Amino acid sequence: MEQIEIIKPDDWHVHFRDNEILKAVVPETSRHFARSIVMPNLVPPILNAKQAIEYKNRIKKAIPARDKFEPLMTIYLTEETNKNELKNAYKNGAVFAVKLYPAGATTNSESGVKDIQKVMPILEMMTEIGMPLLIHGEVTDSNIDIFDREKVFIDEKLDFICKELPNLKITLEHITTKDATLYIKEGKKNLAASITPHHLALNRNAIFVGGIKPHNYCLPILKRESHRKALLKVAVSGNPKFFLGTDTAPHLTQDKESACGCAGVFNATYCLAILTQLFDNENSLCNLEKFVSRNGAYHYNLKSNNETILMVKSNAALSFEEYLYFDKQKIKIFKPDFPVYWNVIQ
Ligand SMILES: [Zn+2]
Repeated sequence: MEQIEIIKPDDWHVHFRDNEILKAVVPETSRHFARSIVMPNLVPPILNAKQAIEYKNRIKKAIPARDKFEPLMTIYLTEETNKNELKNAYKNGAVFAVKLYPAGATTNSESGVKDIQKVMPILEMMTEIGMPLLIHGEVTDSNIDIFDREKVFIDEKLDFICKELPNLKITLEHITTKDATLYIKEGKKNLAASITPHHLALNRNAIFVGGIKPHNYCLPILKRESHRKALLKVAVSGNPKFFLGTDTAPHLTQDKESACGCAGVFNATYCLAILTQLFDNENSLCNLEKFVSRNGAYHYNLKSNNETILMVKSNAALSFEEYLYFDKQKIKIFKPDFPVYWNVIQ
């Protein structure tokens, strides 16, 4: 049987939500990952250290005793964020990074940033202390086509931030376009990008062909095949500027299968199996560890994990559970449109 042992992975972008959903989904991530950067877009959002610490404690309570898992907390940047409080929250270890959502870009992002100029003093302070900025890189202007919003953000906003603050550590999150891969590759040393398993596995046909597929709707939206191929190429290349951020984002099935369905794909359960298959399909298993376990830690100046996990390839395709059930509710689990023969053996 073919197998591969790798350093235990980290997930540099997760949504755990709160309350009952949080309890249901945290074990799906903590089972296979050592650390995660947790997004702050709750209702209401995580705006300060106190809220981040309380949220971290709720997450910790949901981690099964079998798992050793560390959530890394983020603050939701607004035009009212207090610079000195933020600085202290980073220095005393309560928060790890700041998340910038352009106002209205995705789920619960209404209080995000409208005018980048207004947060420049905060970004300058973050540059001085080495605090990472995580960016949802899409403009929200209704005149811009939804498929072009990432590229326009890079051209009009990200490039401005990078030029003004060349030493700021930036992660352009969940990139979806060839344009983003080129900008990151050619960009400054402190600029890196995360990529999700669903953007590596699917193109936009997966939303529209053969009937509307609400479970494949996410933001930034899936793009055309040439973009998916560009993402896959940089992911399997081992380039240290690209790493895994699953953007696993649970929504109840009823909220996805709706006249106005929520954006987000819940992929934590089979993410590593799917990624290993994708790397195998590209004859690039030798670079899997870099993408899921090394590159992100390197970007964030953290050590790689000490533990390892074992991935094993079977002769028969893995059969996927369709839903994560809890409390008479359910969340659809992401499944790609190709067979997956790999699985994680603890
Ligand atoms: Zn996200």
